[in-house]
Amino acid sequence: MAFDETYRTSGNLAARLDAELRHAHPRTVLEAAHETFGDKLALVSSFGAESAVLLDIVAKVDPAIPVLFLDTGMLFGQTLDYRRSLTRRLGLTDVRDLRPAYNDLATGDPNAKLWQSDTDGCCHIRKVLPLDRALSGFEAWITGRKRFHGGDRLSLPVVEQTPTHVKFNPLANWTRADLDAYMAEHDLPAHPLVEQGFPSIGCWPCTQPADDGSDVRAGRWAGQDKSECGIHLARAPGAVDNVGGDI
Ligand code: SF4
Repeated sequence: MAFDETYRTSGNLAARLDAELRHAHPRTVLEAAHETFGDKLALVSSFGAESAVLLDIVAKVDPAIPVLFLDTGMLFGQTLDYRRSLTRRLGLTDVRDLRPAYNDLATGDPNAKLWQSDTDGCCHIRKVLPLDRALSGFEAWITGRKRFHGGDRLSLPVVEQTPTHVKFNPLANWTRADLDAYMAEHDLPAHPLVEQGFPSIGCWPCTQPADDGSDVRAGRWAGQDKSECGIHLARAPGAVDNVGGDI
C-alpha cells in the first residue's frame, strides 16, 4: 500500500488505522502494519517476561520482520539465553542486537556505574540513543505495551503517531489472562526469571522481583520516581535530549 510522505507523517494514517484496528486481534493489527509498511516496519522487543506472545504472532505473520533487541550491556544472562533460544524456536530470521555506542559509553558512563547516580542518563545512553539510531531506517514500529500495565499506558491507543514514526501497540487491549491463555495455547516457554517472581524484566541493576502481582512494573526502578526508560517519549526528529518511556 503506497502513501505519500505527507500522509504518512500527518497523523491521518495513524488515526485511520487506529479507528479500523482498535478492537482487532493482535494478529490482524500486525498483518495491517506489515501490509502498510512492508520492510519499513520493525518490532522492538526486550525478550522479557511477556515478550514471547508478540514475538510468536510476528513470526506467524512474517518471520523476517526485523526485531530490534536492546542489549544494554546490563541484561541478565537469562535474558540473553532466552533471546537466543526463543529466536531459534520461533524461526525469527532478523533479530538485531542494538548496543550502546562506544563513544557514548566512553564519554558518559566509562565505569558502567551511571545507573547508580543517574538512571535517566544511563537509559539514554544504553536504550534511547541506540534505538533512535536503529529506527532511523524505519517508518513504523511495533511495541509490546499494554493498558493493564497502568500509569501512562492506561490510555494507550492501538495505533499512534509520533513526530517521526507510526507506532503499533497490538496488545494494548489484552489482559494478563489473555497473555497467559495465548502462552498456554501455543506452548510458549516463559522467561526463566518469571518463576523467580519477576513480572517485568529489564536490566539487572534496575529490576527486582515484585511482592505481589497487582502492579506488573513494581519491580522496575523500585524506590525511584521513574517507571519508563525513555524510548516511548515522543521526540522531534533528531532530538535526543529528553528521556522519560519503555518497551
Ligand atoms: Fe541503565 Fe538501569 Fe536504564 Fe538499564 S534500566 S539502561 S541499567 S538505568
